[in-house]
Amino acid sequence: MPASRCPQGHDIRAATDRDGQGYCLRCRAERARQRRVSNSMKLTLIRAFEDAGVRFEDDDGSPVAPAEVVRQLAAVYEADAP
Ligand SMILES: [Zn+2]
Repeated sequence: MPASRCPQGHDIRAATDRDGQGYCLRCRAERARQRRVSNSMKLTLIRAFEDAGVRFEDDDGSPVAPAEVVRQLAAVYEADAP
């Protein structure tokens, strides 16, 4: 990889643009954007599940086990079955 490019091939004009792994400002901005999209996707999914009656936290506010979430989902679909 040329010294003036990051691993994604973006031009790097100043050494201060490069982070510890050699990625540039554009890479960092893109990663931050993907994290925001991914976080908003997770919230949307959780809300959709909760609207369907699936709980991700018990009465103490502790997260329920993934297997329990699946069991709840199965119960929701069973209840909707004709
Ligand atoms: Zn880059």
